[in-house]
Amino acid sequence: MKYDYLVVGAGLFGAVFAHEMAVKGKNVLVIDRRDHIAGNIYTENKMGINVHKYGAHIFHTSDKEVWEYVNRFAEFNNYINCPVASYKDELYNLPFNMNTFSKMWGIKTPAEAKAIIDKQAGEEIERMNQEKGTTEFVADNLEEQALSLAGRDIYEKLVKGYTEKQWGRDCKELPAFIIKRLPMRYIYDNNYFNDRYQGIPIGGYTALVEKLLLIRKDEEVPFLSGSITVKTNTDYYDFVKMDGNIPVQPFESVSGDSFDKILFTGMIDEFFGYKLGTLEYRSLRFETEELPEVDNYQGNAVVNYTEREIPYTRIIEHKHFEYGNGKGTIITREYPANWKHGDEPYYPMNDEKNNNLFSQYTSLAGEYNNILFGGRLGQYKYYNMDQVIRAALDMVAEQ
Ligand code: FAD
Repeated sequence: MKYDYLVVGAGLFGAVFAHEMAVKGKNVLVIDRRDHIAGNIYTENKMGINVHKYGAHIFHTSDKEVWEYVNRFAEFNNYINCPVASYKDELYNLPFNMNTFSKMWGIKTPAEAKAIIDKQAGEEIERMNQEKGTTEFVADNLEEQALSLAGRDIYEKLVKGYTEKQWGRDCKELPAFIIKRLPMRYIYDNNYFNDRYQGIPIGGYTALVEKLLLIRKDEEVPFLSGSITVKTNTDYYDFVKMDGNIPVQPFESVSGDSFDKILFTGMIDEFFGYKLGTLEYRSLRFETEELPEVDNYQGNAVVNYTEREIPYTRIIEHKHFEYGNGKGTIITREYPANWKHGDEPYYPMNDEKNNNLFSQYTSLAGEYNNILFGGRLGQYKYYNMDQVIRAALDMVAEQ
C-alpha cells in the first residue's frame, strides 16, 4: 500500500494528527509497538469499571477550542479532581486550601491561616540565614525553598515525603527550582485544577481514541476522502527498512508499504540510535488490584500518600472517576521508579542537561524534512492531554 503518512505511535498525539490528516484527504497508517491504541491514556473496562492503566488521567483545560474539539469525540462527565492526602493516617484536602489549613491547625479564617504560614516561613528563613551567616535568603535546595514558602508543618506533612518518593532523592539534594511556588488557596475550595473545563470522558479514553482513529463510529461520520489504517504490536524499528538509524528514502516498510512522510511520537534519542547521548526520564510502576468484595475502598478517586515510609505515592480508585456505584472496585498503587533502557519513559527530566541534549537532537531532526517529531517523547516535554491536542493541531496546520 502507498500511504501519505506513517504515524508511529497510536497515543493522543498520533491519533489527533492521523484524524486531521484523514479529514484533509490523506491516507494514513498508524502503528504502535504496544498491543493496544491510546498510548498512556489507555483505559480498559474490567468489572464494568474503566481502569486508567497508566495512571490517573483527568482532562482539564482552559483552551476553549481544544475543549470543543475533544467533546466531538466523547461526552465528558462533571468529574472535578479533589485529591486527598494521607499523612500517618491524618487526612488533608489538596490543593493547599482553607480545608487543609483548618484541619492542620484547627483554625477558621484566611487571616489566621495566613498568619501561621507567614510566621512559620519567616522563622525558617531566619534560622537558615543565621546558619549561613547572611541576611539575604537564597534557597540552596528544594527543602529550603519549600520551608521558606510554606513553613514547617506543610513541608513536613505534605511536601517532603511525597517529593522525595517522586524524585527518588532527599529534598536537600534536589534543586530549589523544582518548586518555584507552592500555591496557597485562602478559600474553601478542593478543586485541584484552576482550569475552566474539566472532566472524564464517559466510557473511557480508549473509546475517544477509537473515534479519532475512525475505529469506532457511533454516529454518522461525515464523508472523509482520506483513511486511517491501524496496526498494533508493530514496532517501527521492525517495520520500516532502515539505513543505519535512518529509514530508507522513499520510506518503505518490510511488508512493502511506502510513505511520503513520517510522524514519529516515540523517543527522539532512540530514533537516532542514541548517537548524541541518552535523554533521561522518571518512570513509574503500577500495581492494580481487583477487589470484587469491596464496593468502596477509599471514598475518593485519588489519595496521595505523603509519608516517605509508604513506598507508593498514590492509590487510585478508578470507579470514582465515573461516579460508579456497581459491585466491587479496582485500585491501583503508583510507585515512582528510576528509569533505565527498556523501562516505560513517563516523565521527561526537563533539567538543563537534558534540555540541551534535546536541542541537539532537534537540530539533527531538522536535517530530515519528511520526518516530524511529536508528543511527549518526540518533543521531550511534559505535556498534559490538552497541550498534546493543541500541539498536534498546530503541527497539522503547518503541513
Ligand atoms: P504516548 O501516549 O506515550 O504515545 C506514544 C505512543 O508511541 C505509545 O503508545 C508508544 O507505545 C508508541 N511508540 C513509541 N515508540 C514506538 C516505536 N518504536 N514503534 C511503535 N510505536 C512506538 N495529562 C492530563 O492532561 N491530565 C492528567 O491527569 C494526566 N495524568 C498523567 C498521569 C501519568 C502517570 C502520566 C505519565 C501522564 C499523565 N498525563 C496527564 C499526560 C498524558 O498522559 C500525555 O499528555 C499523553 O498521553 C501524551 O500522548 P502522546 O501521544 O504524546 O504519548
